[in-house]
Amino acid sequence: MENSAETIFFENLHLHPDAMEGIASMGFSKPTPVQEQAIPVILSGADLIACAQTGTGKTAAFLIPIIHHILTQTRSGTQALVIVPTRELTVQIDQQLQGLGYYSGISSKAVYGGGDGAGWELEKTALTQGCDVIIGTPGKLLQHMVMGYVQLDSLKFLILDEADRMLDMGFYEDIMRILDYLPKKRQNLMFSATMPPQIRQMAKAIMHKPVEISLALAKPAEGIMQSACLVQESDKARLIHHLLEGKKMESILVFASTKSSVKQLAKTLADIPGFSVRAMHSDLDQPTREATLNSYRNREFQILVATDILSRGIDIDRIELVINYNVPQDAEDYVHRVGRTARAENTGLAITLISPRELESFKRIEKLVGYQIYRMKLPDGFKEGHAPATPERPHRSYNRKKKG
Ligand code: AMP
Repeated sequence: MENSAETIFFENLHLHPDAMEGIASMGFSKPTPVQEQAIPVILSGADLIACAQTGTGKTAAFLIPIIHHILTQTRSGTQALVIVPTRELTVQIDQQLQGLGYYSGISSKAVYGGGDGAGWELEKTALTQGCDVIIGTPGKLLQHMVMGYVQLDSLKFLILDEADRMLDMGFYEDIMRILDYLPKKRQNLMFSATMPPQIRQMAKAIMHKPVEISLALAKPAEGIMQSACLVQESDKARLIHHLLEGKKMESILVFASTKSSVKQLAKTLADIPGFSVRAMHSDLDQPTREATLNSYRNREFQILVATDILSRGIDIDRIELVINYNVPQDAEDYVHRVGRTARAENTGLAITLISPRELESFKRIEKLVGYQIYRMKLPDGFKEGHAPATPERPHRSYNRKKKG
């Protein structure tokens, strides 16, 4: 489906006034491209497959029509089940729903486990009594479902968000088992950053004549200034010091590939005057991860060093700088990592540090995004690896639409 040439406004979508209030309160003035395309399809009642990466506004693309539906139909029991790959994404979608649904009194429950026994009981209560929207990770949802108390008879929408990620994480079986607990007649919406054959297979198994929309190719979102630097592995931490020293920045996200490098790097960067640093990795328990994310959102510290646990789906506003301490192995992960900056209408900067050993992986990334990423010159006192030709100025990338 092609985007129409005419600008669509939220006012043109004939949404319930309370849904419009929610949109206004979030400060959204007009729909993003994925919202322009997806919202009318969802409102029409059709199944939908949307190829859209995070940062495009895809969450609101499905939440807005769901809120509209809840407001305009007889409201009883759980109306929508959103299945997502990670706990962080569960919480984030729930928060966006609370914002958008503020004037609608929408009830929701994030089901992600990892909390304590009291958390389980709260989830159980919500699932038994039925809230408007349930958002959860596959494993945790299934644990509740097999207990037999989950009430989903009135479910209208099933949403699979970040479907490709869920398959990568091995959730296919869990998702299929969850389907056994859902009413057969429902509207299915699937969002995925990529469309590998397994996703199409899953869509075929689950969906009924889906409308397909495709916006984001595997390209970093509009507004991200990307650059890269060839540097010896052993110099990387020192280079980050050098780049940040004396600068005034509030929100920097540094990705490293392994838990141990995250922990180490967080310690090293703590020496930079004027910056405080925290680490985020899967060894931390859920409450600590949430508290860290919240403090980061509230600008209580400036540098968050994280593994890929944060690369997809996490919505933190106004990250000024993303640093890839390592070149991600998976080229798609690069897009997700740099996508943490320049959310929606913001702009941001991303720097990738490439050791000579990582150059081949980085070239694969450039192949995927379809252009060469600007190579920054190393400051004096740093040793380069092999430096290929440098384009003239930083590349500002744009979301391109797939033809046809
Ligand atoms: P998502 O792709 O769902 O992770 O959304 C990325 C960011 O875009 C979030 O911070 C949203 O609050 C924001 N956003 C979503 N829709 C709009 C819109 N229509 N106008 C401005 N920002 C938006």
